[in-house]
Amino acid sequence: MSEDIRDELLNERKNGYDRVSKEDVIAAEEFCAGYKDFLDRAKTEREAAGAAEAILEAAGFVRYERGMTPAPGARVYAVNRDKAVIAAVIGREGLETGANITAAHIDSPRIDLKPVPLYEDSDMAFFKTHYYGGIKKYQWVTIPLELHGVMVRADGTRADVSVGGEEDDPVFVITDLLPHLAREQVQKPAGTVFTGENLNVVVGGAPYDDDGKDRFRLAVMSLLHESYGVTEKDFLTSELCFVPAGKARDVGFDRSFIGAYGQDDRVCAYPTLKALTDLDGIPERTAVCILADKEEIGSEGVSGMQSEWYDTFLADLCAGAGTEYRVFCENSVCLSADVGAAYDPNFPEAYDKRNSPFVNGGVQVMKYTGAGGKSSASDAGAETVARLRGVFDRDGVLWQSGELGKVDYGGGGTVAKYLAKRNIETVDIGVPVLSMHAPFELTAKLDVLMMYRAAESFFTL
Ligand code: MN
Ligand code: MN
Repeated sequence: MSEDIRDELLNERKNGYDRVSKEDVIAAEEFCAGYKDFLDRAKTEREAAGAAEAILEAAGFVRYERGMTPAPGARVYAVNRDKAVIAAVIGREGLETGANITAAHIDSPRIDLKPVPLYEDSDMAFFKTHYYGGIKKYQWVTIPLELHGVMVRADGTRADVSVGGEEDDPVFVITDLLPHLAREQVQKPAGTVFTGENLNVVVGGAPYDDDGKDRFRLAVMSLLHESYGVTEKDFLTSELCFVPAGKARDVGFDRSFIGAYGQDDRVCAYPTLKALTDLDGIPERTAVCILADKEEIGSEGVSGMQSEWYDTFLADLCAGAGTEYRVFCENSVCLSADVGAAYDPNFPEAYDKRNSPFVNGGVQVMKYTGAGGKSSASDAGAETVARLRGVFDRDGVLWQSGELGKVDYGGGGTVAKYLAKRNIETVDIGVPVLSMHAPFELTAKLDVLMMYRAAESFFTL
């Protein structure tokens, strides 16, 4: 009797493994095989957009053209400048009653090249870089890096660059000082050990075979010219970045974790996209999946969530259906799908344990994010969170609530506030991550599956 009253009245945290079936554990393993493959193919937003497009095409989605009037059941998508994706399955109710929208992002912290990157010093060739997003700089030195991106030549043709991903590819690296000579360096606060201007990447050390000047720089350019038909000026019109080398890996004897670069936020992007493409038949309400760019630098720019590109697509859809876009927004609801900070027992000082998500506890529903008194948070309405709670509990989706660490310890935001600004009810949800923004982030397989199930469930809201 006293156990029943505890169950009824108290909110107790339980580990996911104690709440799911053996079949769920197997399902998580299977789902994560596809997720790891996606991670390996999608190390930049462009690659993620391309991989997402392939998944959409395979699932029968067609590129939306302005003027189309998609009927219930129609599957359409659009790609924003190769960097962001929006896809929709039109519901039986049409667009008048709004849509259930998921919004994840496909950009991740990384090391971008400067416009004039190449220089030589002391018989070595380097690239100057300008990091992208919030990184702890010391984590990015002495690890193998891959180079990804595009270079656009003067005639407008494009070279797609990808070096370091194949087994026999070379990789690149930022050096660090040997401990023997680091007595002074190790006294510095971690945030100042490496400055942005220190993050210079070694790209060569064999001189061009002549006795002229700039032989190391010339040697690198000669190899790039040979492989990609580019010159040093083409760096001025390029988007190149270094990302951690290597594939997604299982972590732990039990393989219950996934370790990989860029899980923030592909761990929400892939499951939400899969939930959309796996929709059976014609859903009641229209389902929309957004994979946005530029979240890590404030959702800025023409491909970020603040861009009207997203509105243009949705408003065009509405126009085709004779629905006013503002009415569509008013009746829509959005899951802002982005990672949360999993409780890390190695750093208990940074978390309020009672209000932190645990790995293998399921997806984290965040009523609000933000920093310093919820600044910049969207702060979902209790009624909206309750609607989610209803469908998640109905469908057996493991979920937990949580904040991003202790109050006033820092904080962070998501795209939520930009969706909410469009008069769309928005709730933050995501997979708890350990070592967020590090070159090798950790997630739990059960939580990844639950992100998929949460999106599935949400599309029935
Ligand atoms: Mn994120
Ligand atoms: Mn992030």
